[in-house]
Amino acid sequence: MVSAHQHFVGLQVFYQVYDIACKWAVGFQSRLQEDAEFFDSHFPGLRSQWPTMYTCVGKFHLPNHDRTCRRRHDPHTFPGMGMFDGEGLERAWALEARHAASAVEMGIGTREDWLTWLFEMFNTDKIMSLRTC
Ligand SMILES: [Zn+2]
Repeated sequence: MVSAHQHFVGLQVFYQVYDIACKWAVGFQSRLQEDAEFFDSHFPGLRSQWPTMYTCVGKFHLPNHDRTCRRRHDPHTFPGMGMFDGEGLERAWALEARHAASAVEMGIGTREDWLTWLFEMFNTDKIMSLRTC
């Protein structure tokens, strides 16, 4: 999580959306503090600049959570989220699964390049399919 988001330091607000973000996020801030030496040596300055983080559960998964969780983690209750359903990443998983068998055979560098290309392709396809008004 920290490694992936180190390039976004400077954001004021960050939304973490995942099926079980409500469980995953428990203690996240305290883990950052407890492992301060590790984070400061690998990601200098990141802990002090970590943005305000809100955790949401995607709309498809939210009905399986209890009432308190649904109220706290519904993406539609957060400013700026609009009608975002938080399930886009999982839609891509079905497409990614087709490539899993070949990716697992690759060396680590080739796999990283391959996955980067694959995700860029998904993003490009998504952008190209957006309507213009
Ligand atoms: Zn929950």
